Amino acid sequence: MDAGQTPKASRRNILRAGAAIVAAGVVVKHAAAEDKIEKSLVGYVDKSTDPEGHHCSTCANFQPPASCAIVAGVINPNGWCGAFAPKG
Ligand code: SF4
Repeated sequence: MDAGQTPKASRRNILRAGAAIVAAGVVVKHAAAEDKIEKSLVGYVDKSTDPEGHHCSTCANFQPPASCAIVAGVINPNGWCGAFAPKG
């Protein structure tokens, strides 16, 4: 190829670029939907087993009636997990 010439886009390169764009879009969409921690990763239980008696409804992350700011899914007010943070 002479200097100043641009390479022709091969069909294979066009397909690869398209696949990369689609994959990037899937990753971004997935990250937006999964911005909370899975229950299993923080040892969430529906009924608190904390020896000090802590439970979700006394945690700073609890969002009534049944959500958490950092843990995904439905959260029982009587539940508990390892990310418990006492209300200030
Ligand atoms: S962070 Fe707090 S409110 Fe969220 S699941 Fe854990 S104990 Fe419950």
